[in-house]
Amino acid sequence: MHFVSTPIGAARDITLRALDVLAGADLLVAEDTRTLRHLMEIHGVALGTRQVISYHEHSGDAVLARLLAALREGKSVAYASEAGTPLISDPGFVLARAVVAEGLPILAAPGPCAAICALTVSGLPSDRFLFAGFPPTTRSARHAFLAELKPVQATLIFYESPKRVHSLLEDLAECLGGAREAVVCREMTKKFEETTRGCLADLAEAFSTRSPKGEIVVLVDRAKEAPAEAGALEAALGKAMEGMTMKDASALVAEAFGLPRREVYQLALKRQRE
Ligand code: SAM
Repeated sequence: MHFVSTPIGAARDITLRALDVLAGADLLVAEDTRTLRHLMEIHGVALGTRQVISYHEHSGDAVLARLLAALREGKSVAYASEAGTPLISDPGFVLARAVVAEGLPILAAPGPCAAICALTVSGLPSDRFLFAGFPPTTRSARHAFLAELKPVQATLIFYESPKRVHSLLEDLAECLGGAREAVVCREMTKKFEETTRGCLADLAEAFSTRSPKGEIVVLVDRAKEAPAEAGALEAALGKAMEGMTMKDASALVAEAFGLPRREVYQLALKRQRE
Protein backbone atom coordinates (compact mmCIF):
# COMPACT_ATOMS: atom_id res chain seq x y z
CA MET A 1 0.00 0.00 0.00
CA HIS A 2 1.39 3.38 -0.99
CA PHE A 3 0.55 6.67 0.70
CA VAL A 4 1.21 9.31 -1.90
CA SER A 5 1.91 12.97 -1.08
CA THR A 6 0.49 15.48 -3.52
CA PRO A 7 1.13 19.23 -4.04
CA ILE A 8 -0.10 21.88 -1.58
CA GLY A 9 -0.47 24.49 -4.32
CA ALA A 10 1.94 24.23 -7.21
CA ALA A 11 0.94 21.22 -9.31
CA ARG A 12 4.56 20.66 -10.40
CA ASP A 13 5.54 19.85 -6.80
CA ILE A 14 4.43 16.25 -7.35
CA THR A 15 7.43 13.90 -7.35
CA LEU A 16 8.36 11.72 -10.32
CA ARG A 17 8.08 8.68 -8.08
CA ALA A 18 4.58 9.69 -6.96
CA LEU A 19 3.60 9.86 -10.64
CA ASP A 20 5.12 6.40 -11.21
CA VAL A 21 3.15 5.00 -8.26
CA LEU A 22 -0.07 6.58 -9.55
CA ALA A 23 0.62 5.28 -13.05
CA GLY A 24 1.27 1.75 -11.85
CA ALA A 25 -1.26 1.17 -9.05
CA ASP A 26 -4.03 -1.39 -9.62
CA LEU A 27 -6.35 0.59 -7.37
CA LEU A 28 -6.36 4.36 -6.96
CA VAL A 29 -7.93 5.71 -3.78
CA ALA A 30 -8.42 9.38 -2.97
CA GLU A 31 -9.93 11.66 -0.35
CA ASP A 32 -11.19 13.78 -3.24
CA THR A 33 -11.45 11.75 -6.43
CA ARG A 34 -11.83 14.81 -8.67
CA THR A 35 -8.65 16.43 -7.34
CA LEU A 36 -6.62 13.26 -7.95
CA ARG A 37 -8.05 12.76 -11.44
CA HIS A 38 -7.26 16.40 -12.26
CA LEU A 39 -3.70 16.07 -10.95
CA MET A 40 -3.14 12.94 -13.02
CA GLU A 41 -4.55 14.68 -16.08
CA ILE A 42 -2.19 17.67 -15.62
CA HIS A 43 0.78 15.32 -15.53
CA GLY A 44 -0.38 13.06 -18.34
CA VAL A 45 -0.85 9.97 -16.16
CA ALA A 46 -3.50 7.86 -17.83
CA LEU A 47 -6.28 6.48 -15.70
CA GLY A 48 -7.10 3.83 -18.31
CA THR A 49 -9.90 1.58 -17.17
CA ARG A 50 -9.16 2.24 -13.50
CA GLN A 51 -11.68 3.86 -11.22
CA VAL A 52 -10.69 6.24 -8.45
CA ILE A 53 -12.26 5.01 -5.22
CA SER A 54 -13.33 7.60 -2.67
CA TYR A 55 -11.97 7.19 0.86
CA HIS A 56 -12.30 9.86 3.54
CA GLU A 57 -13.04 10.34 7.23
CA HIS A 58 -16.67 9.32 6.85
CA SER A 59 -16.17 6.32 4.57
CA GLY A 60 -17.71 3.29 6.17
CA ASP A 61 -16.06 -0.03 6.95
CA ALA A 62 -17.13 -1.41 3.56
CA VAL A 63 -14.58 0.71 1.67
CA LEU A 64 -11.85 -0.23 4.13
CA ALA A 65 -12.73 -3.92 3.78
CA ARG A 66 -12.61 -3.60 -0.01
CA LEU A 67 -9.15 -2.03 0.09
CA LEU A 68 -7.79 -4.63 2.51
CA ALA A 69 -9.21 -7.44 0.36
CA ALA A 70 -7.47 -5.99 -2.70
CA LEU A 71 -4.17 -5.76 -0.81
CA ARG A 72 -4.53 -9.36 0.40
CA GLU A 73 -5.01 -10.44 -3.23
CA GLY A 74 -1.64 -8.84 -3.99
CA LYS A 75 -3.04 -5.78 -5.79
CA SER A 76 -1.15 -2.51 -5.53
CA VAL A 77 -3.15 0.29 -3.92
CA ALA A 78 -2.21 3.99 -3.91
CA TYR A 79 -3.93 6.46 -1.61
CA ALA A 80 -3.72 10.26 -1.88
CA SER A 81 -5.42 12.82 0.33
CA GLU A 82 -6.69 16.08 -1.13
CA ALA A 83 -3.38 17.94 -0.78
CA GLY A 84 -0.03 17.36 0.88
CA THR A 85 0.84 14.29 2.90
CA PRO A 86 -1.88 11.81 3.90
CA LEU A 87 -2.46 11.44 7.68
CA ILE A 88 -1.14 14.95 8.40
CA SER A 89 -4.44 16.63 9.41
CA ASP A 90 -5.89 14.49 6.65
CA PRO A 91 -7.46 11.02 6.41
CA GLY A 92 -5.30 7.92 6.24
CA PHE A 93 -4.63 6.99 9.87
CA VAL A 94 -7.42 4.40 10.18
CA LEU A 95 -6.40 2.91 6.84
CA ALA A 96 -2.73 2.78 7.89
CA ARG A 97 -3.60 1.09 11.19
CA ALA A 98 -5.74 -1.48 9.41
CA VAL A 99 -2.98 -2.25 6.90
CA VAL A 100 -0.41 -2.60 9.71
CA ALA A 101 -2.79 -4.86 11.66
CA GLU A 102 -3.03 -7.13 8.60
CA GLY A 103 0.76 -7.36 8.53
CA LEU A 104 0.80 -5.86 5.05
CA PRO A 105 3.51 -3.42 3.94
CA ILE A 106 3.03 0.35 3.89
CA LEU A 107 5.23 2.54 1.76
CA ALA A 108 5.31 6.30 1.33
CA ALA A 109 5.80 8.26 -1.85
CA PRO A 110 6.90 11.34 0.14
CA GLY A 111 6.44 14.91 -0.95
CA PRO A 112 4.92 18.23 0.09
CA CYS A 113 3.61 18.91 3.57
CA ALA A 114 2.51 22.41 4.63
CA ALA A 115 3.95 22.05 8.16
CA ILE A 116 7.44 21.20 6.89
CA CYS A 117 7.27 23.77 4.11
CA ALA A 118 6.34 26.45 6.70
CA LEU A 119 9.10 25.36 9.08
CA THR A 120 11.59 25.62 6.23
CA VAL A 121 10.72 29.23 5.40
CA SER A 122 9.99 30.38 8.97
CA GLY A 123 13.55 31.00 10.10
CA LEU A 124 12.53 29.56 13.49
CA PRO A 125 14.59 26.80 15.15
CA SER A 126 14.10 23.52 13.35
CA ASP A 127 16.08 21.26 15.67
CA ARG A 128 12.91 20.30 17.52
CA PHE A 129 9.32 21.02 16.50
CA LEU A 130 5.84 19.99 17.55
CA PHE A 131 3.10 19.73 14.96
CA ALA A 132 -0.12 20.65 16.80
CA GLY A 133 -2.53 20.45 13.83
CA PHE A 134 -5.74 22.51 13.95
CA PRO A 135 -6.36 24.01 17.42
CA PRO A 136 -9.85 23.54 18.93
CA THR A 137 -12.28 26.18 17.76
CA THR A 138 -13.95 27.13 21.04
CA ARG A 139 -12.03 29.64 23.14
CA SER A 140 -12.03 27.63 26.37
CA ALA A 141 -10.86 24.43 24.67
CA ARG A 142 -8.21 26.39 22.78
CA HIS A 143 -6.91 27.97 25.98
CA ALA A 144 -6.60 24.56 27.63
CA PHE A 145 -4.86 23.23 24.51
CA LEU A 146 -2.39 26.15 24.45
CA ALA A 147 -1.71 25.89 28.20
CA GLU A 148 -0.46 22.35 27.58
CA LEU A 149 1.83 23.55 24.80
CA LYS A 150 3.21 26.57 26.67
CA PRO A 151 6.21 24.85 28.31
CA VAL A 152 7.15 22.77 25.29
CA GLN A 153 10.74 23.50 24.24
CA ALA A 154 10.14 23.22 20.52
CA THR A 155 8.87 25.29 17.61
CA LEU A 156 5.08 24.91 17.60
CA ILE A 157 3.29 24.47 14.28
CA PHE A 158 -0.46 25.06 13.86
CA TYR A 159 -2.82 24.80 10.91
CA GLU A 160 -5.61 27.37 10.97
CA SER A 161 -8.43 28.62 8.82
CA PRO A 162 -8.03 32.22 7.60
CA LYS A 163 -11.30 33.10 9.40
CA ARG A 164 -9.84 32.17 12.78
CA VAL A 165 -6.21 33.22 12.37
CA HIS A 166 -6.70 36.53 14.15
CA SER A 167 -8.37 34.99 17.18
CA LEU A 168 -5.73 32.27 17.27
CA LEU A 169 -2.96 34.89 17.30
CA GLU A 170 -4.75 36.74 20.12
CA ASP A 171 -5.10 33.55 22.15
CA LEU A 172 -1.49 32.60 21.45
CA ALA A 173 -0.31 36.01 22.69
CA GLU A 174 -2.52 35.71 25.77
CA CYS A 175 -1.60 32.12 26.65
CA LEU A 176 2.06 31.94 25.60
CA GLY A 177 3.06 35.59 26.07
CA GLY A 178 3.10 38.39 23.47
CA ALA A 179 6.90 38.47 23.25
CA ARG A 180 7.34 35.10 21.58
CA GLU A 181 8.54 35.18 18.01
CA ALA A 182 6.08 33.79 15.49
CA VAL A 183 5.53 33.46 11.76
CA VAL A 184 2.36 33.32 9.67
CA CYS A 185 2.79 31.50 6.34
CA ARG A 186 0.00 31.97 3.84
CA GLU A 187 -0.62 30.35 0.46
CA MET A 188 2.75 28.64 0.29
CA THR A 189 3.92 27.57 -3.16
CA LYS A 190 1.05 29.60 -4.70
CA LYS A 191 0.88 32.94 -6.49
CA PHE A 192 0.05 35.03 -3.41
CA GLU A 193 2.48 33.35 -1.05
CA GLU A 194 3.24 35.55 1.94
CA THR A 195 5.32 35.16 5.10
CA THR A 196 4.72 37.55 8.01
CA ARG A 197 7.11 37.54 10.96
CA GLY A 198 7.02 39.26 14.34
CA CYS A 199 6.29 38.76 18.00
CA LEU A 200 2.85 37.36 18.85
CA ALA A 201 1.58 40.70 20.21
CA ASP A 202 2.52 42.54 16.98
CA LEU A 203 1.13 39.79 14.75
CA ALA A 204 -2.16 39.74 16.67
CA GLU A 205 -2.43 43.48 16.14
CA ALA A 206 -1.41 43.33 12.47
CA PHE A 207 -4.02 40.66 11.73
CA SER A 208 -6.78 42.53 13.59
CA THR A 209 -7.29 44.73 10.53
CA ARG A 210 -6.76 42.07 7.88
CA SER A 211 -9.11 39.47 6.43
CA PRO A 212 -6.57 37.05 5.00
CA LYS A 213 -7.63 34.58 2.35
CA GLY A 214 -6.30 31.16 1.52
CA GLU A 215 -4.46 28.58 3.54
CA ILE A 216 -2.43 29.37 6.63
CA VAL A 217 0.19 27.85 8.92
CA VAL A 218 1.18 29.60 12.16
CA LEU A 219 4.51 28.83 13.84
CA VAL A 220 5.62 29.94 17.30
CA ASP A 221 9.13 29.90 18.73
CA ARG A 222 9.74 28.16 22.05
CA ALA A 223 9.74 30.20 25.26
CA LYS A 224 13.04 31.74 26.17
CA GLU A 225 14.30 30.31 29.45
CA ALA A 226 13.09 31.95 32.66
CA PRO A 227 15.54 34.47 34.21
CA ALA A 228 16.30 32.17 37.19
CA GLU A 229 17.16 29.39 34.79
CA ALA A 230 19.18 31.79 32.68
CA GLY A 231 21.40 32.44 35.72
CA ALA A 232 21.86 28.73 36.30
CA LEU A 233 22.62 28.23 32.63
CA GLU A 234 25.27 30.97 32.64
CA ALA A 235 26.88 29.48 35.74
CA ALA A 236 26.91 25.95 34.31
CA LEU A 237 28.35 27.19 31.05
CA GLY A 238 31.07 29.20 32.79
CA LYS A 239 32.08 26.15 34.81
CA ALA A 240 32.04 23.83 31.82
CA MET A 241 34.13 26.25 29.76
CA GLU A 242 36.87 26.18 32.37
CA GLY A 243 37.85 22.62 31.52
CA MET A 244 36.49 21.97 28.05
CA THR A 245 36.47 23.34 24.55
CA MET A 246 33.65 25.77 23.84
CA LYS A 247 31.98 23.20 21.59
CA ASP A 248 32.04 20.42 24.18
CA ALA A 249 30.97 22.76 26.98
CA SER A 250 27.99 23.99 24.92
CA ALA A 251 26.98 20.44 24.04
CA LEU A 252 27.13 19.33 27.68
CA VAL A 253 25.13 22.30 28.99
CA ALA A 254 22.62 22.13 26.12
CA GLU A 255 21.95 18.50 27.01
CA ALA A 256 21.59 19.29 30.72
CA PHE A 257 19.14 22.16 30.14
CA GLY A 258 17.25 20.58 27.24
CA LEU A 259 18.22 23.45 24.93
CA PRO A 260 19.38 23.48 21.32
CA ARG A 261 23.19 23.22 21.05
CA ARG A 262 23.30 26.12 18.62
CA GLU A 263 21.59 28.42 21.16
CA VAL A 264 24.01 27.51 23.96
CA TYR A 265 27.00 27.77 21.61
CA GLN A 266 25.96 31.35 20.78
CA LEU A 267 25.86 32.09 24.52
CA ALA A 268 29.30 30.57 24.95
CA LEU A 269 30.64 32.71 22.09
CA LYS A 270 29.18 35.80 23.72
CA ARG A 271 30.74 34.89 27.07
CA GLN A 272 34.11 34.39 25.46
CA ARG A 273 33.94 37.74 23.66
CA GLU A 274 32.98 39.49 26.88
N1 SAM B 1 -2.11 16.99 4.54
C1 SAM B 1 -1.79 18.39 4.39
C2 SAM B 1 -0.29 18.58 4.59
O1 SAM B 1 0.48 17.65 4.39
O2 SAM B 1 0.12 19.71 4.92
C3 SAM B 1 -2.64 19.26 5.28
C4 SAM B 1 -4.10 19.15 5.04
S1 SAM B 1 -5.06 20.14 6.11
C5 SAM B 1 -6.67 19.55 5.74
C6 SAM B 1 -5.10 21.69 5.30
C7 SAM B 1 -4.33 22.77 6.09
O3 SAM B 1 -2.96 22.70 5.77
C8 SAM B 1 -4.75 24.19 5.71
O4 SAM B 1 -5.88 24.61 6.45
C9 SAM B 1 -3.52 24.98 6.09
O5 SAM B 1 -3.47 25.19 7.48
C10 SAM B 1 -2.41 24.00 5.69
N2 SAM B 1 -2.01 24.24 4.29
C11 SAM B 1 -2.20 23.41 3.25
N3 SAM B 1 -1.69 23.94 2.12
C12 SAM B 1 -1.15 25.14 2.46
C13 SAM B 1 -0.49 26.17 1.75
N4 SAM B 1 -0.27 26.08 0.44
N5 SAM B 1 -0.07 27.27 2.43
C14 SAM B 1 -0.30 27.38 3.76
N6 SAM B 1 -0.93 26.44 4.48
C15 SAM B 1 -1.34 25.33 3.85
